[in-house]
Amino acid sequence: MRYEENTARKVRTQEFNAFSMLQQKIGSICQRMNIEEGICQRLQLCKRELIVHFPVKMDDRAIRVFTGYRIQHNDFRGPAKGGIRYHPDVTLDDTRALAALMTLKNAVVNIPYGGSKGGVVCDPKLLSQDELERLTRRYASEISILIGPESDIPAPDIGTNPQIMAWIMDTYSMNKGYSVLGVVTGKPIEIGGSKGRLEATGRGCMICAQLACQHLGIKLGEAKIAIQGFGNVGSTAAKLLAKTGSLIIGVSDSRGGIYNPDGLNIEEVLRHKKETGAVGNFRNGQNISNAELLALECDILIPAAYENQLHKGNASSVRAKLIVEGANGPTTTEGADILREKGVFIVPDILANAGGAVVSYFEWVQGLQSFFWSEEEVNRQLEVVMDNAFREVLEVSQRDKVDMRDAAYILAIDRLVKAMRIRGIYP
Ligand code: NAD
Repeated sequence: MRYEENTARKVRTQEFNAFSMLQQKIGSICQRMNIEEGICQRLQLCKRELIVHFPVKMDDRAIRVFTGYRIQHNDFRGPAKGGIRYHPDVTLDDTRALAALMTLKNAVVNIPYGGSKGGVVCDPKLLSQDELERLTRRYASEISILIGPESDIPAPDIGTNPQIMAWIMDTYSMNKGYSVLGVVTGKPIEIGGSKGRLEATGRGCMICAQLACQHLGIKLGEAKIAIQGFGNVGSTAAKLLAKTGSLIIGVSDSRGGIYNPDGLNIEEVLRHKKETGAVGNFRNGQNISNAELLALECDILIPAAYENQLHKGNASSVRAKLIVEGANGPTTTEGADILREKGVFIVPDILANAGGAVVSYFEWVQGLQSFFWSEEEVNRQLEVVMDNAFREVLEVSQRDKVDMRDAAYILAIDRLVKAMRIRGIYP
C-alpha cells in the first residue's frame, strides 16, 4: 500500500472509531425496539477479550514481539465464529467491532453461531513464509485457550488465507493429540475444507446484487458495476457478476484503480494482477484513483476493501443506485445518512458479505459429520440461505419503513434477544 493511502486510512480509522459507531447503532436500534438497557448493554459489549504479546524468531535470528487479539462478542446462539486479520492497522477497537458485526451477521442469515474476531498487528507481505508460519503457530497457541470447534471457530479475513488456517488447525491438533478439523473454517479442501468456501463471500455479494436488482427493477445483465478492492471478495464478485453479462467498468486495489466504460475483461485483469501485483496499468483500461472509482457513474458499487471508505467527505459524490457492501463496515454512519438522502439502496455488510460465514458454517457441519458435499450442493444451499435472509430483511424494511441496514439490525437483534431471554441469566 502506498504511504499516502496508508496514512489516509489511518487517519480515517482514528477519525471513525468503528466500535463506538457500532455501539451507538446497536443502542439506537434497541431503543427503537423497546429493549431494556441491560440486554442492550450485553449486545454493545464483547463477552471475552484476549490480548496477547508473543515472540517470533525471525529469519535473521532476531526476536520480534507481535501483538494479537481474539475477541468473542457473543455466543447466545452457538459457538463464537469469526475471521482472523493480519494487517498493520489491526486495533483492539476495530477487532471488537468486527466481532460484534459477526454476531449480527450470523443472526441475520440465521446460522447457529455467535460472533468473534481476531487479528495480529503485522504486515504479512513483509514476512517470509517461514516467519508467517512461526507467527501463526505461536498466535494459535496463545489464543488456544479460547478457540475450539465448540467454542470459537476462526476463518480467513484480510491478510490470512487457507494455508494460515491449515497451520492453526495443525497447531491446535498437535496440542490436543488428535486432528480437530472443526477448529477453523476456510481450510484447504485436502484437509477438510469445503468446496465453494473460497468464492462464497463474493458469491453471496453476487446473489444480493441479483436480488436487489430484481427489487429495484435494474436489469443485472445490463448493469454497470464498479468494485473497490480486488482481493478475495472483490475479484470473485467481479468474476461472477461479469458472467451474468454485467459490465464491470471499474475495479481498484490499494494502489489505485482502472476504468473501461465498455467493461473490463475480468479474467485478463486477474492475470495482469497476478503478473504485476496490481490492477493498475492494465492495457485495456485507464488508470483512475480510488476516489474516482467510488464516484464512477454506474448502477452498482461494491466496496470490497476496508472499513470507512464511504464517509461524509465523499458519499455525496457516489453516483451508483445500489451499493452492495462486500467489505465489513465500508460506510460510516454519516456516509450512510448522506447516501440514504440521495436515495441509494444499500445492501448492508451483515447481509451482503455473509456468504463466507454461511459456507464456513457448511464447512463446519461437513467436518463434524465427516461427510462432504459437492460444489453444486454448497452453492445451492448458499443461495437458499442468502435468498431467505434477503427477503426477510426486505420484509422488515417494508414493515417498519426503515432502510435495509436498520432492517438487518432489527432482524438480528430480535433473534439474539429471543435467544438471550430463553437462556436466562446464570446463576
Ligand atoms: P483481501 O486482502 O483478499 O483483499 C482486500 C483488497 O482490498 C485487496 O485487493 C487490496 O489491495 C484492496 N485495498 C486495500 N486498500 C484499498 C484501498 N484503499 N482502496 C481500494 N482497494 C484497497 O481481503 P478480502 O478477504 O477480500 O476482504 C475484503 C473485505 O471483505 C474486508 O472488509 C473483509 O473484512 C471483508 N470480508 C471478507 C470475507 C472473506 O471471506 N474473505 C468475508 C466477509 C467479509
